[in-house]
Amino acid sequence: MNDRAAAVLATARAINAAGINRGTAGNVSARYADGFLITPTGMAYEECVPEDMATVGAGGTASGRRQPSSEWRFHHDIYAARPEAGAIIHTHAPFATALACQQMEIPPFHYMIARFGGASVRCAAYATFGTQALSDAVLIALESRRACLMGHHGMVVFGGDLKEALALAIELESLCEQYWRVLQLGQPRLLPADEMARVIEKFRDYGRQT
Ligand code: 13P
Ligand code: ZN
Repeated sequence: MNDRAAAVLATARAINAAGINRGTAGNVSARYADGFLITPTGMAYEECVPEDMATVGAGGTASGRRQPSSEWRFHHDIYAARPEAGAIIHTHAPFATALACQQMEIPPFHYMIARFGGASVRCAAYATFGTQALSDAVLIALESRRACLMGHHGMVVFGGDLKEALALAIELESLCEQYWRVLQLGQPRLLPADEMARVIEKFRDYGRQT
């Protein structure tokens, strides 16, 4: 438990160090036992120790010395709905959040969009933070994807483990920045559906060394 909690905390510190989150915004979790470990609500990651990470069981019951993130519901619901999710990162990354505040989805302006499972990264409808309504909206936007923007809020990404989730969160913010820059030049040409289908297929075994 302590190693997993330390890894969750290290990832939470890493999202701020990577410039994809600021202050106490955002939250990080990893599957643990029948539930998950998650960052505590409203605490500065630099001041946390691994024992501050909260445990939430499969039924949604929290334990530990701290209250779990206010967003534990969507972490809980993603783990329940998506067996391939081993770790989840939610951030208020600057470029992703700017696009999300315009309720924009990210179209296939670049082939790397396929990394997230489809030909776009959707934007979830706005709902108040920490609510079941927000969790429901996020799950809809994540259908057959492993990332989405969250209307007027930020982004959420999941991976098989914390390392993969962190890499994907950084990649998504990078794509959001590139999309923002491309929009300064005018409406981008988009890649066609058949090309995106080819790239999605190639990503199934991309980067495998064995
Ligand atoms: P927590 O500190 O409760 O995790 O909240 C941060 C956040 O980003 C809410 O959406
Ligand atoms: Zn948030």
